[in-house]
Amino acid sequence: MNALCYENPYLREFDAKIARIKKEGNNFLISLDKTYFFYGSGGQSCDAGEIIGGNGKAIVDEVFEADGEIIHKARITGNLYEGENVRCKIDWERRYKLMKAHTTEHLLFQCLKRKFGKIYVEKIRISPEKFSFFISFDKVDWDKILEAEKLANDIIREGKDVLVKEIDINEARSYGDNLRIKFDRIGSDRIRVVEIKDFDLAACTGLHIKNTKEIEFVLIDKITSEKGLYEVEFLIGREAVEKALELSKIALSLSSILQTDFSTIEKFAEKLRKDYLELQKKFQEISKKSLEEIKYEEIAGIKLYKQVFEKIDNKTLMEKVGKIIKESKTVVIFANLNEKASIILARSDDLKLNVRDLLNEALRLMNGRGGGRENFATGAGDKEKVDEAMDFLDRSIKNWIKGIKI
Ligand SMILES: [Zn+2]
Repeated sequence: MNALCYENPYLREFDAKIARIKKEGNNFLISLDKTYFFYGSGGQSCDAGEIIGGNGKAIVDEVFEADGEIIHKARITGNLYEGENVRCKIDWERRYKLMKAHTTEHLLFQCLKRKFGKIYVEKIRISPEKFSFFISFDKVDWDKILEAEKLANDIIREGKDVLVKEIDINEARSYGDNLRIKFDRIGSDRIRVVEIKDFDLAACTGLHIKNTKEIEFVLIDKITSEKGLYEVEFLIGREAVEKALELSKIALSLSSILQTDFSTIEKFAEKLRKDYLELQKKFQEISKKSLEEIKYEEIAGIKLYKQVFEKIDNKTLMEKVGKIIKESKTVVIFANLNEKASIILARSDDLKLNVRDLLNEALRLMNGRGGGRENFATGAGDKEKVDEAMDFLDRSIKNWIKGIKI
């Protein structure tokens, strides 16, 4: 396989000859005698583009490597022939963005490493939809994140050259911690190394830009964690600037809403969150108490629980309903009045009644909507009409009980 894109990642168009075309479903798999299309590697998505012949055109949606050959998966309009000379156009907007983002990943990782100490990259995702990498942090420290971002933007402004070279595996080992490499994933003695001059060294099979200036600006816009790994998402260029302005607006507006000084807003939010959790706990305790002694009506051996509550914790109420319907032959009709009235209609498994359909009928009376299962349904609607809906449910359940006993 001769991946020419590594020789000149800035080449947008080239001439080639079609070596083979194979139909696969609605698509065609095209091989060329030479190609600058990138097949996707190092966590970076492949190219898209066009292959243009005398009487037809292929829209390339995917490029991949199979058995040492680079394959262009495409939709063809008109006709293309084996042996035909064609003009190939790489979707440059997509490619250039991915090259910039990939180089930014190298840069950001190095900056984070300098601020956080030992961190490791587990996975890289540089795709048109999202730029991110997964790393192991002990704990996210937003002040250090900010320092890393400032450093990255300094390097971007400075305009450091990005160099690519091939080195021997023994030379790679001699770099120690200064070279980012996973030796267990290396299958050859020659290693492609990408250097942000005098700043970062990483073994990589992706495509990169020539100078950090091309990135313009970088912003980390999201960090989420799962199973001990953190996914760091980032934006570059104009999108990053716009997001930075938007985030700044949110912070300024929050400081105004919370009537607290901008510099202390984080501490204030932490306190609010703590207070909120405590209040929520108290609220749940009070709600639990009000649910302790609920009365029911017994009709033909079936217990019917029916009650309207005023502003109690919905989660606690749902849990209570779950417990009640574990007893045999029970039906529950509960309403909870907040800004809207929510209704829970549920029954024990030994009764055959589709409560979801019945509740939906009742909710129509209060311009509401609901959902759920045949034995447990919930929904909400206008508070003013809740009595009407509750009466309808009460009547319907009682009629149904009479019906099954006759
Ligand atoms: Zn790379």
